[in-house]
Amino acid sequence: MFCPKCKTILYPEGEVSICKKCGYKEDKGGAVITSTTASQKEREVVDDISGTLPTTVIECGKCGHNKASWIIRQTRASDEPETRIYQCLECKHKWREY
Ligand SMILES: [Zn+2]
Ligand SMILES: [Zn+2]
Repeated sequence: MFCPKCKTILYPEGEVSICKKCGYKEDKGGAVITSTTASQKEREVVDDISGTLPTTVIECGKCGHNKASWIIRQTRASDEPETRIYQCLECKHKWREY
């Protein structure tokens, strides 16, 4: 069984299979266990980043990978600065920068 996030092989651990790379967990029935409680800040980044996007050299705070794709997202309020959203190419972790 492989991790859908980073394609690393999953290690069985008790009732679940765990990705040692990104922390992804899956139970034996195939259901995803979201044990990692997403912080409020992470939950804000809901934008689906997919397709062909520019990449940049930036360190992922989660897995330490040094490349991420990014998009510019304009906030609703026009007087606010635009937000750059990064997505790690390795573990698909997303974060934003103002
Ligand atoms: Zn993984
Ligand atoms: Zn990463």
